[in-house]
Amino acid sequence: MGSIIFWGIIRLALTIAGVWMLYFYMDYGLWWAFGIVALYGIVLHPALIQYKLFEEENKEIIDFTLCSTCKYFDTTAVLCIKLDEHPTKNYLPCDGEAWEPKSYEDRYENKYQA
Ligand code: SF4
Repeated sequence: MGSIIFWGIIRLALTIAGVWMLYFYMDYGLWWAFGIVALYGIVLHPALIQYKLFEEENKEIIDFTLCSTCKYFDTTAVLCIKLDEHPTKNYLPCDGEAWEPKSYEDRYENKYQA
């Protein structure tokens, strides 16, 4: 998730710089339209695609591992916030020793966040 935000910021900075330079060479009305299309096409759309891929790649970890039922699991980052490590399908950072069940509120909130 962090890399999506990082590269999104990099693309945003480069796009703003590029669109700003084009300001001097384009008609003002066309420049605005081009800027909006460039922001969507270069920054927003790739970030959305990356996020969808991130969700697909981590779906099994988020839904079907021991961590997915643990209160220390952050589903948005696929991260164990207790050990600051990323669990995988075959790697459980605490080996199950630090597992604690999610509270009713945690389960209720996650059900409607997904
Ligand atoms: S404490 Fe253990 S079970 Fe809970 S999220 Fe971290 S690694 Fe997974």
